[in-house]
Amino acid sequence: MSATRRQFMVASAATSALAALGKPTKAFAAADGGIKWTKGVCRYCGVGCGVYKGVRDGKLVAIKGDKENHNDGYVCLKGFLLPQILYHEDRLTHPLIKKNGKLVKASWDEALDLVAKKFTESVKKNGKDSVAFYGSGQAYTEESYAANKLFRAGFRTNNVEGNPRLCMASAVGGYVTTFGKDEPMGTYDDIDHADVFFIIGSNTAEAHPVLFQRIARRKKADPNVKIIVADPRMTPTGRIADIYLKFKPNTDLFVLNAFANYFVQNDLVDKEFIKNHVAFGKGKAADQNWDAYVAFLAPYTMEKAAEVSGCPIEDLTAAAKLFGCKKNRTMSMWTMGINQRLRGVWGNNLIHNLHLITGKIGIPGSTTFSLTGQPNACGGVRDQGGLCHILPYGRLVKKPEHRAEVEKIWGVPPGTIGDKPGKHALAMFQALETKDIKCIYIMCTNPGHSLPNVNRYRKAMADPDTFVVVADIYPTRTTELADVVLPAAAWSEKEGVFGCTERRYQLEHQVVLPQGEARADFDILVDLAARCGYGKLMPWKSPDDAWEELLRLAEGTMYQIGGITRARLRKDHGVIWPCPTEDHPGTKLRYVKGEDPWVPKDYPHRIMFYAKPDNRAVVWFRPWENAAEMPDEEYPFFFTTGRVIEHWHTATMTGRCKELKHAKITSEVEIHPDDAKKLGVRTGDGVRVTSRRDSLVFPALVTDNSQPGLVFVHMHDANLKRMCNKITIDQFDPGSKEPTFKICAVKLAKA
Ligand code: SF4
Repeated sequence: MSATRRQFMVASAATSALAALGKPTKAFAAADGGIKWTKGVCRYCGVGCGVYKGVRDGKLVAIKGDKENHNDGYVCLKGFLLPQILYHEDRLTHPLIKKNGKLVKASWDEALDLVAKKFTESVKKNGKDSVAFYGSGQAYTEESYAANKLFRAGFRTNNVEGNPRLCMASAVGGYVTTFGKDEPMGTYDDIDHADVFFIIGSNTAEAHPVLFQRIARRKKADPNVKIIVADPRMTPTGRIADIYLKFKPNTDLFVLNAFANYFVQNDLVDKEFIKNHVAFGKGKAADQNWDAYVAFLAPYTMEKAAEVSGCPIEDLTAAAKLFGCKKNRTMSMWTMGINQRLRGVWGNNLIHNLHLITGKIGIPGSTTFSLTGQPNACGGVRDQGGLCHILPYGRLVKKPEHRAEVEKIWGVPPGTIGDKPGKHALAMFQALETKDIKCIYIMCTNPGHSLPNVNRYRKAMADPDTFVVVADIYPTRTTELADVVLPAAAWSEKEGVFGCTERRYQLEHQVVLPQGEARADFDILVDLAARCGYGKLMPWKSPDDAWEELLRLAEGTMYQIGGITRARLRKDHGVIWPCPTEDHPGTKLRYVKGEDPWVPKDYPHRIMFYAKPDNRAVVWFRPWENAAEMPDEEYPFFFTTGRVIEHWHTATMTGRCKELKHAKITSEVEIHPDDAKKLGVRTGDGVRVTSRRDSLVFPALVTDNSQPGLVFVHMHDANLKRMCNKITIDQFDPGSKEPTFKICAVKLAKA
């Protein structure tokens, strides 16, 4: 694809033409002959667009947007091209076992017997925590649940993790510490009511295109709507911004506190709301209260924020004024730019703080709203309990009563579930390195590409003394390191539930048969459980039965998904929880009286943060701090990573779509013209980027989208010579354990 065409595509994302591609058109309807359409959900991002899947002669041939779903018939280019992800010649179609260093064809019996033998022997010989499961926010909920149950109740380990640890763990930490429970309180509908959008640490136009298009439509419909975008890079998201805050990397937490201070100093706080609904940071100091908060904020002045962030004070002040203005409804959105940081949880807390002190929360158009990267990170991993420290539906491993509830429903003896959390993602792969974990089952994800400081973990996975099983649909940078590769059925070749960013659960129907001998992950896990002697744990005939069990697990919890039955999922175009009964419409405004069924009808206030013991959300005192690795004399540049619109994650699927595979797949290093001049580099020249982990050469893209001292590389390129995670650092947020992908230090040289 030429640069010109790409520029058009990216620009289109900001002006809505691209996102409208999926709208059924006259020409499209004419081509409908002989196609059977079935509703479903896009396979890619956390927006979770509803689609119709068109099948002809047993083959998925077309996609169109679902007009009855939240996306109103729109899909982006990736969604439009979904059929291709099933049919590339690279598909894994039979099991593989590594013999003499090579993966060779095997039968399902050989492969699964070997996996069962290795895992059960390891548990016997080395203890239950010598095995682990690493799953995905892209697997269906029932699949992640089957693995969760097999590992916790069968092997009896809490070493159950998933790749949402790499992207959303800090958002989870933010929601839990501020509000008491995970998941946002708003929905996409808030977009249609907001007067001001505050988008920080999110290139929404490229990473969540259909959502961005909805924001653009809102602005077009009402010219009074204002958009503030805060990001160290100018991205396509900034094209429609009224105020663009191009802050210096890692200074955003200072800016967020400065906004709070501005609200305090300019009487933009909602004292009544604070009095009724807010508690102050229960950190180390016991005397934290409003006065202490005001004192904490005092150093965060706008003058100082301008100096620290490099943003003009006029822009900072104008942005704070728009955000805080009492008549405006403000919606904040963020994603990895805030989450993948040493202080990702704190960044989340600070955004929530802004809404809590101004009372801009729980009103249509006024909400905090984190954007999720994967289609089922929320429903399948966060809600279902697929991380090492949690159990289904908000339960915690460390709470005996929570373990007992789950054990009772599972019908296993008390004490089956271990009382200590297992290892989080990076600790899990570090334990593989030290051989404390000897066997790992990796499902539907590609840690051999996506982990930070990835050389280290690739070495651990490749070690002949570790046993690595990978279930996936295509060869990846992880399957090449595996001892056993299991060919998985792809999206649309199997049935299951996705839960997207806005608490919306949707059913993905099977519409075609799996390729070759590929099997659904759910069936593989049920089969494996039986071979390990744990067949009784999974008496399920289909994912429907597992879903029934999940509904029982959710009973009595604040998740309230009892009304989201399988029958309803088959019929409806997604249901948003809390939804306690089948006739309940779903809840758009969580925590709000008259909307959320958990709030008593006679509660004296409009909002109740019921997940906190005192019904109050917490305003935390979170200071600005340096990143885990700051530039210095030897490594003077900030290095950051992110997405482009054509690709998704490690490009396992988009890299196999013919229209997308050449588009922007090669990672370039974006350099500001001032730095390029100093290095004597022009666009297209090779630039050696060196961190303390590795040194790689990328073609240069000289652009003032960047800023002096900052370079950017996209994350999708799987070429070992340009895989950006060889450079990133594997430090993590001490609270959420989410790695700090967004910031490390590098040096540059012309190559
Ligand atoms: S925005 Fe996300 S969910 Fe929607 S069509 Fe595009 S990739 Fe799929």
